[in-house]
Amino acid sequence: MHKHHSALGLATTLSNAARGIDIAKHGPVQPVTLIRPHAASRAARFFVEKFPGRSMYAVKANPSPALLQILWESGITHYDVASIAEVRLVARTLPGATLCFMHPVKAEEAIEEAYFTHGVRVFSLDSIEELEKIVRATREAQDLTLCVRLRVSSEHSKLSLASKFGAAPGETKALLFAARQAADALGICFHVGSQAMTPEAYANAMERVRAAIVEAAVTVDVIDVGGGFPSTYPGMEPPPLDRYFETIGRAFESLPVSYSSELWCEPGRALCAEYSSLVVRVERRRGNELYINDGAYGALFDAAHIGWRFPVELLREPDSHARDMEFSFYGPTCDDMDHMAGPFLLPADTRAGDYIEIGMLGAYGCAMRTAFNGFGSDETVVVADEPMASLYTTDEREVASNVVTL
Ligand SMILES: *Cc1c(COP(=O)(O)O)cnc(C)c1O
Repeated sequence: MHKHHSALGLATTLSNAARGIDIAKHGPVQPVTLIRPHAASRAARFFVEKFPGRSMYAVKANPSPALLQILWESGITHYDVASIAEVRLVARTLPGATLCFMHPVKAEEAIEEAYFTHGVRVFSLDSIEELEKIVRATREAQDLTLCVRLRVSSEHSKLSLASKFGAAPGETKALLFAARQAADALGICFHVGSQAMTPEAYANAMERVRAAIVEAAVTVDVIDVGGGFPSTYPGMEPPPLDRYFETIGRAFESLPVSYSSELWCEPGRALCAEYSSLVVRVERRRGNELYINDGAYGALFDAAHIGWRFPVELLREPDSHARDMEFSFYGPTCDDMDHMAGPFLLPADTRAGDYIEIGMLGAYGCAMRTAFNGFGSDETVVVADEPMASLYTTDEREVASNVVTL
């Protein structure tokens, strides 16, 4: 892996190198993923220090072993895994980590391997069938922490997780009661949907938890408020994370749970969104449409399919002084759906051959890449500059000043 001070530094260095050996007039032909270890480490330390309970990392947001290592070194000891491949990955990468298998619908073979081979003791479920599966697969183990997933509203979130999983109000009493019989420790978990834009989302979900506990009259040992903690994107700037933590802490304190009960959370996006960005090249301009070399089948699935607006920045030296205008992007595949509506604000003179950095792709960006149509690349470069936006620092990124220190 190469190290560069900044995104612009990378574009100019590679561009000069390429020119020198006369491969092409320009720099990297493939999209390049920029990695910012310090940003992931800062996010992890923030959760470890400030969340009023235990923070575990939801691995699906970005399963990169390098990231797992950074989070571990920054104090994240528990990992929310959802498939046997994620169980194996984390067990192999971080042998000391505690794994929690939080997918409510698992293969019985996966539960068995997780329990007997990898020492997994925490499982989630949202049905009696799943409870029976867990009991069978672990041969009636007596050391399980079983977390019953409740269905809660996703109304405050940008990505709903309200339809697929979670026990409905009429089902929770019997399920909590049955899980209590099978569990050493009983938990209740939920997920308010991804990118929850207000702490209210958690306050409302905690009211559902309260109602479920009161109705079932069971002793609960763990409250797991799931993921959903936001990052910051254009047009989606959330309140500070401390406000979420305060709201959750207050709600937890007022629940009818035992004194020794624990509070957990499972952030994915909030821990890794700032970890990576992508440098793409403009291959063609047609009016206000830019044809770039990554897209819906690369790291930009969310930009294409749910209209997510990632921050963008033209990496050109000297800086363009043209005013900004709104662009949309086409990705490199031959598919019309490989289109990202944006709008993405870039200088009006942006043209073919320019490099653009697309920010905040550490969560659900790099993790979702495919090689469809022969496009995409694994090239990765570590940089030390600030991400385009951050929930964890108020420092404004100064691209121009980074060039000097190259
Ligand atoms: C996806 C997922 C998470 C992480 O969600 P974010 O919105 O990225 O924080 C946490 N828990 C479960 C069970 C999930 O499915």
